[in-house]
Amino acid sequence: MRLPYSRQTVGAAEAAAVSAAVQDALLTGGPTLARFEAALADAVGATHAIAVSSGTAALHVAYLAAGVGFADEVLTSPLTFVATANAAVYCGAAPRFADVDAHGNLDPSAVAADVARHGTPRVIAPVHYAGHPAAVDAIADAAPDAVLVEDACHALGAGWRDPSGVWRRVGDGARAAMTVFSFHPVKTITTGEGGAVVTNDALLARRCRRLRDHGLVREPAELEAPDGPWSYEQHELGFNYRLTDVQAALGLVQLGRLEHFLAARRQVAEQYDRALGALAEVRPIGPAPGTRSGWHLYPVRVSAARRRHVFEALRADGIGVQVHYAPVHLQPYYRRRFATSAGDCPAAESLAREVLSLPCFPGMDGADVATVVTALARALEERPRPTARAEERTDAVHAG
Ligand SMILES: *Cc1c(COP(=O)(O)O)cnc(C)c1O
Repeated sequence: MRLPYSRQTVGAAEAAAVSAAVQDALLTGGPTLARFEAALADAVGATHAIAVSSGTAALHVAYLAAGVGFADEVLTSPLTFVATANAAVYCGAAPRFADVDAHGNLDPSAVAADVARHGTPRVIAPVHYAGHPAAVDAIADAAPDAVLVEDACHALGAGWRDPSGVWRRVGDGARAAMTVFSFHPVKTITTGEGGAVVTNDALLARRCRRLRDHGLVREPAELEAPDGPWSYEQHELGFNYRLTDVQAALGLVQLGRLEHFLAARRQVAEQYDRALGALAEVRPIGPAPGTRSGWHLYPVRVSAARRRHVFEALRADGIGVQVHYAPVHLQPYYRRRFATSAGDCPAAESLAREVLSLPCFPGMDGADVATVVTALARALEERPRPTARAEERTDAVHAG
């Protein structure tokens, strides 16, 4: 693929840091991990960061720390990667899906309607789709008793102006109890695989750390029946969700380049915005006013009847367009296990029939953007047009 929808930017500085880290005394649980966590907390304006082995692991420990268990529910957006809902099922809970707004984010009025109908869920997990900040203030107001856990896997470095006019950073804990990030290579920064939970709550942070490490407690003051200086105790069932110091070394260098990555993604988005103004059939899904997107994706809508053709034509040109996402509530597993069905979230379903993610990553230049836009214009001029019926069959296309 000449231009994938996203690609990491890793250079000599990362290579040097990783090379040094593999020769350190501690390959895991060492000081580089602690430095990465401190730098991440600082970058998003949170008090605590707990780095884990993936964004999925971060969602899992965050939901557990929020108290999600059997018979609980997690309300989220259907327009997300399956992990947002899967992590709720790992806890023995059931997902609930509310519909999205024009930006692809949980619609606060849909949340309010869902809460009025089914009661307050344990957790609400807004997803900042494409890096476009969701309306977390309105969502929090719609369900004041739910714990807010943001899935910010697309949105490291994004921000929004709150109702009092103050700029907030995604992850600063202004409204959310916890915020989750992913460091998969397609995301804003990478550690290969990796993720993190950030929070301002010391108890939630301690719980996430414990869950990352088998539920073990080592602090002498926290032990129930200390037997000696060798003692540790297991207080709950946790996991091995640790991030290595080698990964943390990579993450530290990447974090140092965060502002550059964000500016480069924003520049690509602005170039698309300008160039696509001339293509009436292509409608970008942009961020809400008063927000600053992380531009993990540059999603556009084309008519459902043309999408398959456009997808195939761009792929044939070496342009890695992708569909983000087949709605989670329409996945066979969720239909079977939780009896979700078409019609549950009409706005998300309609968006999912039309959406394509265009390549968007820091290594792209203006010529790459022009290449994509030219290919898009050519594909839209071509005949024959597939029927809407044929297009519907592509709904299950997986977009990782
Ligand atoms: C990438 C992603 C995840 C999962 O992160 P991993 O690090 O791949 O486990 C969860 N939610 C969203 C919205 C994502 O984009």
